[in-house]
Amino acid sequence: MSSLIRAPAVLARNAASMVRAASIVPSRNWHRTSNSNAAKVNADAISKEYPVIDHSYDAIVVGAGGAGLRAAFGLVAEGFKTAVITKLFPTRSHTIAAQGGINAALGNMEEDDWKYHMYDTIKGSDWLGDQDAIHYMTREAPKAVIELENYGMPFSRTPEGKIYQRAFGGQSLKFGKGGQAHRCCAVADRTGHSLLHTLYGQSLSYDCNYFVEYFALDLLFENGECRGVIALCLEDGSIHRFRAKNTVIATGGYGRAYFSCTSAHTCTGDGTAMVARQNLPSQDLEFIQFHPTGIYGAGCLITEGCRGEGGYLVNSKGERFMERYAPVAKDLASRDVVSRSMTIEIREGRGVGPEKDHVYLQLHHLPPEQLAARLPGISETAMIFAGVDVTREPIPVLPTVHYNMGGIPTNYKGQVLTIDNDGKDVVVPGLYACGESACSSVHGANRLGANSLLDLVVFGRACAKTISEENRPGEAAPSLKDNAGEASVANLDKLRNANGSITTADLRLKMQKTMHAHAAVFRDGPVLKEGCEKMQAVFKEFKDVKVVDRSLIWNSDLVETLELQNLLLNARMTIVGAENRKESRGAHAREDFKDRIDEYDYSKPIEGQKKKPMSEHWRKHSLLWVNDKGEVDIKYRAVIDTPLDNEVQTVPPAIRSY
Ligand SMILES: Cc1cc2nc3c(=O)[nH]c(=O)nc-3n(C[C@H](O)[C@H](O)[C@H](O)COP(=O)(O)OP(=O)(O)OC[C@H]3O[C@@H](n4cnc5c(N)ncnc54)[C@H](O)[C@@H]3O)c2cc1C
Repeated sequence: MSSLIRAPAVLARNAASMVRAASIVPSRNWHRTSNSNAAKVNADAISKEYPVIDHSYDAIVVGAGGAGLRAAFGLVAEGFKTAVITKLFPTRSHTIAAQGGINAALGNMEEDDWKYHMYDTIKGSDWLGDQDAIHYMTREAPKAVIELENYGMPFSRTPEGKIYQRAFGGQSLKFGKGGQAHRCCAVADRTGHSLLHTLYGQSLSYDCNYFVEYFALDLLFENGECRGVIALCLEDGSIHRFRAKNTVIATGGYGRAYFSCTSAHTCTGDGTAMVARQNLPSQDLEFIQFHPTGIYGAGCLITEGCRGEGGYLVNSKGERFMERYAPVAKDLASRDVVSRSMTIEIREGRGVGPEKDHVYLQLHHLPPEQLAARLPGISETAMIFAGVDVTREPIPVLPTVHYNMGGIPTNYKGQVLTIDNDGKDVVVPGLYACGESACSSVHGANRLGANSLLDLVVFGRACAKTISEENRPGEAAPSLKDNAGEASVANLDKLRNANGSITTADLRLKMQKTMHAHAAVFRDGPVLKEGCEKMQAVFKEFKDVKVVDRSLIWNSDLVETLELQNLLLNARMTIVGAENRKESRGAHAREDFKDRIDEYDYSKPIEGQKKKPMSEHWRKHSLLWVNDKGEVDIKYRAVIDTPLDNEVQTVPPAIRSY
């Protein structure tokens, strides 16, 4: 804490005025009830320079995207006093950008069954998904979508007034044998926007306590259990300790570890990093989804819904090349398959543009009325970011980082998991996770489009349900040591005064370029190895970071530096995990290990084959621990193949083709 003692006198003055401000009224209280849990100022707890304001709740939710909001109002509805801590105003969360839709086997366009959806999700996951969680999610899906409809979500409609459902990648009928399914419920191409506003509006009918524009720094752990969160109020620089028996992490993904991605600048993996700092593992981070259609150059997403509505990809010869790679599903094969096919076309010289380094997505054969009704958002995006009128010209596109299949390991109830010395699953007391920051693992090695919005609402609700089943509102919150969170404040102070030689922006760019060059759509041993070394050098360079703004009022330089610190942990785990996994599965495609390596060779009859032990195959989850030196330790967890009950059978692994 020596740097705290050296902090300039002006900070002490700022701190004193902060205490005064906090003890009068909270300076910003959008939709925040200030009557409950009167916050307590604790001027001596950690340091004179950073007085702490203590709060006590029944539950805390970190993050107010789709997952966080669904968890939060589920908790409040059950009578739990809940604090929602979010660095963004809720409706600015990345969920707002989701375009294509949300899957549920409602059967509005043709006869459908959630069991087909379950099958498709398991196949999409390349048999790395946990079948109990997939069973739970796909069975709950129709209820979850009807719940959203009842909350007022303005779905697009069929002429009969039913929820409109479009075709989406990897979705079939009759266990892959009945052709393309129309299962993706959409609000034109602005489904996430509608979903997030619907959930936020719904949450306002309850007494949710929002802490908007508060940056969660760390989890507070004592005796192996999570007892709360320490956060920085971005508006005035005050430090807040939230004490609660239950904490839900819903902080979203970390697309920003890469150079070109569809996710918001705020998707920086803060949740996984907070968990890593408690010496807990993340799961399967090596599986990064590249969306086939990011706008060339800008990276903005052009939804898969375009292909669902009849759009297709073409190369420089004008060929509809997906017919060669996925003869049945064509442009609606799974995202990993389409991204790889595009990359091969470009590599083999059939790319478009002066540098032949991208391909085209063609929509202009579709009726303009259909484009206007079903794809108005992307028509606008294509005009703004590519200067393209989609009714006349094709859109230049390139596979772009889009989604993190990995995250904080949880069971289907949302409880965070680690393993004991015998490799058995152990629940981490007091900690839950949902949404993109979690890995429940319903997406395994590859997520199907429109299964994420579904996972947000299903597992957000599951977290609230589990907490309410195992706790009662108003129970005493666990105690915290007086100096709880001291290390987080010391880190904050150190970064605020960091005076090295590389700016946060420059170091971030180095990380992003390294990740993009060394762990992209196709991966190769030597390139990955070199990438691991380069990422470790970038990680170490963080010591030399320079923060220019020393203030505590809206210090975005400081926040971006904290985010970079988090991104670096995620990037290290991702690239080391990718180098370590010596097979190709789902989104992880190795040039030097082209095959998927399972316990049996599923391309041949199983009879007569000897089952490989876990140490000799890769149908297992990676658990990745990273320390403050960037060193990564890897262990494994078995994939769960057993569904929740005997209402369905397990889907045994098979060769995956579309
Ligand atoms: C462009 C785009 C389009 C997509 N389209 C679809 C689609 O059509 N269908 C589909 O199923 N999926 C889609 N996805 C994926 C899906 O939208 C995301 O996976 C999902 O929205 C993530 O939701 P979330 O609630 O987990 O996190 P987010 O919506 O990213 O929210 C994260 C929340 O955490 C908070 N937070 C983060 N760190 C901190 C911190 N340190 N302190 C405090 N608060 C913090 C933020 O303030 C925010 O409220 C799309 C993704 C993108 C990027």
